[in-house]
Amino acid sequence: RFEGITMAPPDPILGVSEAFRADTNDMKLNLGVGAYRTEELQPYVLDVVKKAENLMLQRGENKEYLPIEGLAAFNKATAELLFGADNPLLKEQRVATVQGLSGTGSLRLAAALIERYFPGAKVLISSPTWGNHKNIFNDARVPWSEYRYYDPKTVGLDFEGMIADIKDAPEGSFILLHGCAHNPTGIDPTPDQWEKIADVIQEKNHIPFFDVAYQGFASGSLDTDAASVRLFAARGMELFVAQSYSKNLGLYAERIGAMNVVCSSTDAAVRVKSQLKRLARPMYSNPPIHGAKIVANVVGDPTLFNEWKAEMEMMAGRIKNVRQKLFDSLSAKDKSGKDWSFILKQIGMFSFTGLNKAQSENMTNKWHVYLTKDGRISLAGLSLAKCEYLADAIIDSYHN
Ligand code: PMP
Repeated sequence: RFEGITMAPPDPILGVSEAFRADTNDMKLNLGVGAYRTEELQPYVLDVVKKAENLMLQRGENKEYLPIEGLAAFNKATAELLFGADNPLLKEQRVATVQGLSGTGSLRLAAALIERYFPGAKVLISSPTWGNHKNIFNDARVPWSEYRYYDPKTVGLDFEGMIADIKDAPEGSFILLHGCAHNPTGIDPTPDQWEKIADVIQEKNHIPFFDVAYQGFASGSLDTDAASVRLFAARGMELFVAQSYSKNLGLYAERIGAMNVVCSSTDAAVRVKSQLKRLARPMYSNPPIHGAKIVANVVGDPTLFNEWKAEMEMMAGRIKNVRQKLFDSLSAKDKSGKDWSFILKQIGMFSFTGLNKAQSENMTNKWHVYLTKDGRISLAGLSLAKCEYLADAIIDSYHN
């Protein structure tokens, strides 16, 4: 009976790593998946994470089930990091926060809430966006469509198009926004543009739905990277925010994140939380404890918290350095007069190179550089030592 099941296509992002592993060439470079690497291109476990884990071992902490909504100390810490500890929203208890299975699981839980309580409501996602967004809403049976975001002519934001499409969406749509460091483009709205985006969303009674996967990892500052969310929250809007600790604490495999729903009253927040728990229970029952304890321990200890901030700045700084070096190498080597400055304007771990599918394939087939077919490269997987080689590969692929 299983004979009828057809082969699923490889995942466009994780499939890149599979292809990379199979390549035996010495020059190979994996810029596909967004995971931080050291200058030696090795995975990195943060010192604060090791310290928090040691503390947990010393205390002999147990492995009992967590409540459906997750670890209370984690939920408190995560909402405070996001909104700011002194945000009146928290004192008023207007935020329903539940621990999720990292960013993806939190988004999926929110999608289930939309499917159940907002039947027929559409989610608008940016064109382009992180590849998994469409899968998440498809599997949750939530209809979605795209709003214009990337302008290939300027390799920048199509702000007019974005505003027009949000305006045109049916009233009460969910507008999915990347809190900072837009994936895959690395292009974020300016503070002034965020205000205008909030204006149209309010005008149309839409519900902002933030995906925050890079808080503190984009600029190096937790507060700077949460500015977009806080701007919307300060307007008194109801909103969704999914959070992830994969990148900023390097907890990729721990699957730790959260779903926050900002409500207009304490009462509504209690009810929303009860429904999030009801959705979570038959899906995965309760979330894993290890990552939640790490986050709670790091944030709860002033010394560890400061060390975390320093490590985040270090990671963000390394990425900014390779971004600069890549730009310098491209500008020095490319004799065509092409303006590469868009690379410096982009934010976060990715650079959207503008390479099309065929050019991206040339990068892989000829140069053994692995990237997603949309021309996105992860600068977190690049070292200073490899910038010149990568610049050669990009120039060759562009002009062929
Ligand atoms: N949203 C965006 C925009 C992302 O880039 C990512 C990670 N690549 C995620 C969500 C979720 O990642 P995770 O499930 O590991 O938290």
